Amino acid sequence: MQVARKLYGWTYQRLFSPAWERWVRHRRPTLDYLAILEETQWLSRQEIQLLQLQNLKQLLSYAKDHVPYYRQLFAKVGLEPNEVRSAADLVALPPLTRELIRERYADLVSPEHLGRTIKKGTSGSTGVPLKFEYNLDSEAWRIAVRIRGYRWSGYQPGLPVFYYWAQAAPLAGALGRKITLDRALKREIYHDSMKQDEASMLDAVSAIRSHKPRVIVCYVQSCALLSRFILERGLRDWDDIPVLCGAEPLLPADRAVIAKAFGPHVYETYGSRETMLIASECSRHEGMHLQEENILTEIALDGRPVAAGEIGDVLVTDLHNYGMPLIRYQNGDTAVMMKDAPCGCGRELGRLARVDGRRADTMSDRNGKPIPGIVFHVLFADARQELINQFQAVQKPTGNVHLKIVRCPLFTDAAFKTVVGRFDQYLGGLPLSVEFCEKISPGKNGKFKSIVVERA
Ligand SMILES: [Zn+2]
Repeated sequence: MQVARKLYGWTYQRLFSPAWERWVRHRRPTLDYLAILEETQWLSRQEIQLLQLQNLKQLLSYAKDHVPYYRQLFAKVGLEPNEVRSAADLVALPPLTRELIRERYADLVSPEHLGRTIKKGTSGSTGVPLKFEYNLDSEAWRIAVRIRGYRWSGYQPGLPVFYYWAQAAPLAGALGRKITLDRALKREIYHDSMKQDEASMLDAVSAIRSHKPRVIVCYVQSCALLSRFILERGLRDWDDIPVLCGAEPLLPADRAVIAKAFGPHVYETYGSRETMLIASECSRHEGMHLQEENILTEIALDGRPVAAGEIGDVLVTDLHNYGMPLIRYQNGDTAVMMKDAPCGCGRELGRLARVDGRRADTMSDRNGKPIPGIVFHVLFADARQELINQFQAVQKPTGNVHLKIVRCPLFTDAAFKTVVGRFDQYLGGLPLSVEFCEKISPGKNGKFKSIVVERA
């Protein structure tokens, strides 16, 4: 059986995957890029920075010559792509915000690629949708980067994978059949993580038992809920399965409960629809390595990079998207860069220490000072497994904070009171109310929001 599984994986990689990637889907050179990435991940820090600088200068030159928005912007701020000496020189460029993309959309698309790009959109956490596009070559880089990053967990295309993932719409028609076939060939099983009633969770468990996935790819908080369900009922009867977490930041308490249900190999990943995989953990689990060959990531406040260890806005430059160059795109997340120190795995790709989530979901105290969302998670972290299963903190337009709590069986009032008492020092006198409920549902996109900021 083991041999057969290995053989299938091998055959898939040799036969189906190249066929699928190269011929069926626009003959993408995904596998060539993957081969490159497998080598470049072992380059020295200096070599990685040099490679990134070359990619950056090429993109900037292209943008200057072909893309009206950048032609005007570079002229205005006096940026000459040939004279760029390091990524730090980008500071001259104001971040590209979602508002700017909407306003200047037509000027951001390269006329050379017009009508030949892949078009996508996001609903946007603030409810304002964002459209964007990218060229086919960028798609190949995106897929290659994703495979390489996922491989650090033991993932291989062709090995059985269980996706506990939000499925926005049912698959239908020719495209649905194509996707279903693609998934079957890749031996990927999908389970909708938005369905979290008892029957659906039992279904997920039996799918894991029968499918015997080599890797699980999941939405973080849904998987944490499934893990709690598995532990409460004593359902685990499998060996350790690596779990790749995406879509939401992975918090310590969730990591701990997922590790109990599936074993200690829990990997955080960070990506977005606009650029796909940005960073992912290696087997050392000490921060997330940036996928620097494809994306230049900066952490900045008001466009100026902050020191490692400090929180700031995520700015990404998509180095291979020539269809609609996104240079210093402010994707709405906040994160912290890790201080430079070699990772035990030997890779010298830079690392993110953590992603804090959406800036739009940051509460403010009476003086307008931001209250980091992580505060709630940290205060609940020690207590979370014994006291509560889930929480959601909502800041009302009045400033008041309303806390929704799903209690766990071991909940006690006394212990909870202690935790709530500790919030005071962070909320700076904002009134706090608490409501106990049976469940907290995910949003339409399948993501749970633990922090919600309501605006007037
Ligand atoms: Zn590493």
